[in-house]
Amino acid sequence: MKPGLSLVKTLSLLVFSLFVLVLSHGQSKQHAFQLKQVTLLPGIFKDAQQTDMKYMLALDPERLLAPFLKEAGIKSEKENYPNWENTGLDGHIGGHYLSALSNMYAATGDERMNQRLDYMLMELKRCQDKIGTGYLGGMPGGIAMWNDIGNGRITSDTFALNGKWVPLYNIHKLLAGLRDAYTIAGKPLAKDMLVRLTDFIDSVSGKLSDDQVQIMLFSEQGSMNEVFADLAVITGNNKYLLLARKYSHRMILDPLIAGEDKLTGLHANMQIPKVVGFNRISEVDGDTAYAKAARFFWQTVVKNRSVVIGGNSVSEHFNPSDDYTTMITGIAGPETCNTYNMLKLTKDIFLTDGKLRYMDYYERAIYNHILSSQHPGNGGFVYYTPMRPGHYRVYSKPDDCMWCCVGSGMENHGKYGELIYSYLHDDLYVNLYISSRLSWQEKGLVIAQQTNFPDEENTRLTVESVESGMFAIYLRYPGWVDPGKLAVSVNGANVPVEVQPGSYLKISRVWKKGDRILVRLPMKLTTEDMPDGSNYVAFLHGPIVLAAMTESMNPDSCKGNGADQFGGYRATGKLYPLEAAPMLVSHDADLASHLKPVAGKSQTYTATDLIRPDGFRNLQLVPFYKLHDARYVIYWQKKSP
Ligand SMILES: [Zn+2]
Repeated sequence: MKPGLSLVKTLSLLVFSLFVLVLSHGQSKQHAFQLKQVTLLPGIFKDAQQTDMKYMLALDPERLLAPFLKEAGIKSEKENYPNWENTGLDGHIGGHYLSALSNMYAATGDERMNQRLDYMLMELKRCQDKIGTGYLGGMPGGIAMWNDIGNGRITSDTFALNGKWVPLYNIHKLLAGLRDAYTIAGKPLAKDMLVRLTDFIDSVSGKLSDDQVQIMLFSEQGSMNEVFADLAVITGNNKYLLLARKYSHRMILDPLIAGEDKLTGLHANMQIPKVVGFNRISEVDGDTAYAKAARFFWQTVVKNRSVVIGGNSVSEHFNPSDDYTTMITGIAGPETCNTYNMLKLTKDIFLTDGKLRYMDYYERAIYNHILSSQHPGNGGFVYYTPMRPGHYRVYSKPDDCMWCCVGSGMENHGKYGELIYSYLHDDLYVNLYISSRLSWQEKGLVIAQQTNFPDEENTRLTVESVESGMFAIYLRYPGWVDPGKLAVSVNGANVPVEVQPGSYLKISRVWKKGDRILVRLPMKLTTEDMPDGSNYVAFLHGPIVLAAMTESMNPDSCKGNGADQFGGYRATGKLYPLEAAPMLVSHDADLASHLKPVAGKSQTYTATDLIRPDGFRNLQLVPFYKLHDARYVIYWQKKSP
């Protein structure tokens, strides 16, 4: 969020900005590269990006804009999309679309993404101008509702504010979309619109006591506080930071500051975005209590409340950390939005703290939850990923399904480049082993990474151009590579590796064009127990979660599934009895040692002497991200003979 710093004009703004600068230079904080500096090269992530772009192009901007036009009193030529877009959450996908287009334009330079983004912004500006107060939104009756709120008429529960379906959550998508259009895609118009909309919210909120705002915050609000803190940095205006604090939900914040996990039973994806905001506020003003709250939350969610794919929650709520029964029995396992938001939090904390346990989680979650949540053929997005053995997922379709996970899903696959590399001063950090090319213009450095990881254990980095050659390249030694097993060479000469997994290997030298780094990352087979210690276990190959297809099925989309009252994203088809699910029968504690590679098939294993009953004996374990249109098993029940 650096653009605002160059715009400082007055003394007060200067003081605030100096404060921010002191903070960001006072600690050894890494920086992310901009999405436009990192181009994905052929590989699984580029495939997912391109598939996402096709899905985004299949959406009609006119239909996404219809709710905004109607609310502004402007005739719309087209009708809203159905599903969540005409039943009260109207406009939320339009907000996500701004973010997704911004990501995709920055990541690919595709002019169609740019044109759509410009068109969406121009039409939304027409709506904002027509309303005239700064307000902008797609929710029916939004203008009247904010008027009521300004007059102190406020009722709320978790899913409603003044009787409407999560209006703050909805408007957050627009706020975030405008921010992203400015900070990621460089659209000045979006900044102006964001300032006007935020000023409107600020003016209404200014009439309310802190307690009245806290009542509003009982309803879902996304990361409004994060966007307001970002706007404080963008504009250099401290009033947005005060607004960010006012929109921070104390009921969630205070126990986290005290280091208390009171999350059981709470709606998970209502809380994660709030914490993204707490952390962002701490980055902007140095509040150590907010920073502590965010780190405690991250730690307890990742260590105690996440399954092997990096996701959390059952039927959207945090299950008891000592009882994952419903995770196994239920059809509504981790929601994709939760992981989308956990990755935002992880990225931000990682850049500040530089600890590689954050990258280990980030990597685990993008391969096993995010990548797996997109259908590789039609691009459909997954809402729930059931952990129930023998169950399956439902995929969205562009014209019919307008869930939250479609909105965040479109964003997910456009930003895989956000953390492959980072930098601190002159040094480059390589965090992820993903095929890509980094163009670090300020240094005149272009470096390409080519790999088929995780279908191979190597990655190759090549310096394609460099100006000032003396600096360090730090290579991540992942936590899943055994001590002493990481092997690195530069131009064919071995580099001694004297660091441990979970740290960086530093290679400092005068780099020149054509230098080649080869990194070998031996992956081992392991198991991971369910966090509650119950007798369910999952297999991993390095950071990659393995799963077995128990039955193939046609892609189940929300329409084919018959839209239910929720919007058709739940896999409500036949439940296969858990007693009949494949299980592992062995006395051996080392279950991973029983996996045998299948000749000629990458990352494919059998476990014929473990898996029972006999009908399942020849099941093959493959990376979960490769498995689609199927019933599957990720977690296996363990039994002794
Ligand atoms: Zn969702």
